[in-house]
Amino acid sequence: MSLSKINATAATLTKNRTEGSVVPTSGMCVTCIDGCIGMCEIGKSAYRGHEVIYPQPFGVITTAAEKSFPVDYSHFNIMGGVVGAHGIEADSDKAIFPAVNLEVTFGHDKGIKFKMPFMIPGIGSTDIAKNNWEGLAIGSALAGTGLTIGENVAGMDNEAVYKNGKVVDTVDLKRRVKLYLDHRQDGYGAIIVQANVEDARLGNQEYAIRELGVECVELKWGQGAKNIGGEVKIKNLKKAQMLLERGYIVLPDPTDPTVIKAFENGAFSEFERHSRVGMVTEESFAKRIEELRKAGAKYIFLKTGAYRPAALATALKFASKYKLDLLTVDGAGGGTGMSPWRMMNEWGVPPVELHSLLYQYVKQLHEKGEYIPAIAVAGGFTFEDQIFKGLAMGAPFVKLVGMARAPIAAAMVGKTIGNAIRNHQIPVYVERFGTTIDEVFVTATELRHKLGNEEFEKLPAGAIGLYTYYERLAQGLRQLMAGTRKFALEYVSRNDLAAITHEASNITGIPYIMDCDKEEAEKILAGK
Ligand code: SF4
Repeated sequence: MSLSKINATAATLTKNRTEGSVVPTSGMCVTCIDGCIGMCEIGKSAYRGHEVIYPQPFGVITTAAEKSFPVDYSHFNIMGGVVGAHGIEADSDKAIFPAVNLEVTFGHDKGIKFKMPFMIPGIGSTDIAKNNWEGLAIGSALAGTGLTIGENVAGMDNEAVYKNGKVVDTVDLKRRVKLYLDHRQDGYGAIIVQANVEDARLGNQEYAIRELGVECVELKWGQGAKNIGGEVKIKNLKKAQMLLERGYIVLPDPTDPTVIKAFENGAFSEFERHSRVGMVTEESFAKRIEELRKAGAKYIFLKTGAYRPAALATALKFASKYKLDLLTVDGAGGGTGMSPWRMMNEWGVPPVELHSLLYQYVKQLHEKGEYIPAIAVAGGFTFEDQIFKGLAMGAPFVKLVGMARAPIAAAMVGKTIGNAIRNHQIPVYVERFGTTIDEVFVTATELRHKLGNEEFEKLPAGAIGLYTYYERLAQGLRQLMAGTRKFALEYVSRNDLAAITHEASNITGIPYIMDCDKEEAEKILAGK
């Protein structure tokens, strides 16, 4: 059985002519007929070429791979018993799910505290992030979780000011940081500024630390969706030329007179901005960490993608040796911005395998007494059961789960519903809950009480959407944890999981369900 779905997908706006009869290996119609206008990906590539590499429409979607990985987190079930409680008195009146504590602290000095064990691990310069930033930043800040400003934000900013090749002022990066910090509650959460190769050259993190009060910075080696830098489409010639001047790869060359003429004549309408691939060496890594510490970075994170196992080992070893505060490991498949569609599907180590290798490597270093940074895992997480499984699989080292597409979806839906309420065009599907923000959003009363009427009225609906989604995840996670009798995150363990397929068990070392508690059950039956 083919695990991949090719040649026809909503991601590239393509389909087969013979939809019910498709060759699994090629994705082609069983009969490819002379005269077809080519609605499939091969056909569309015959006239739009490389444009069809990317999911569409650009700038208003997030995408994730359609490939069916042989094993995913659904291959595990969460185990619970009938007695006891960890982290609270074993008393049925006290060990209730609202009493579960989801707070997590991490960092070399345990100085970072989140109200919930999840965060957004990096969304950058794409329009989808920019257009939903109010919701993402304010929602994350109110919920007391982390938000990472992804790569290229300063580089893409038309109004950013550069001196001697280094950024000295920005509009977009400043706005993004400020939106978060202005809504931060009681010191919970963190705003993190990420950097790729170009960002580091432009000095964006030094600027963010110096001018914007940012304490956490992150080096980025990649993401689950792709093994090359980010891509963005540019519809404006001047901007394409500006980005080339700032050191980005821009295709086709926006300074070439033939290209300029073709663009002006409408032969093509978008330039592509690409980033470089990094060239990791220990020497340059150590140097960059030292530079960031000297610049005043209080906490330094590293995010790595679904690279091969040797690269994962390198990321972990460096994070340990240079005493970083968080290492995020993002499994294959996702893409909040623009990643090549086939690459998203076919490259990298899938999440369960990647997180299992990570656990093995971390355990090895831990047994040798080496420093272990807090670990975050990412790759397709959307609901509380998956979050629980991600935390349990990597326990006790995994402290956080990273999610990007799901929070963006929540912020976008919140924004859309807010607009519908404002325009008195509420869909019937939503109207049954009411016709005002207070009636429709279930957390409105709590937020109004917490912030006061004036502040509440100013909240963008996108932020309420994200906050409400997080509230659901938190409550769901508390229920699952109460079911496993774990009333604080430090008690969650690998023993809370059982593999329901042999393959999942072989990959992860989590016992197959029929082998779970085997000895203990025998003893009970023997009356010992
Ligand atoms: S070009 Fe061939 S494979 Fe593609 S949609 Fe047409 S008939 Fe099907």
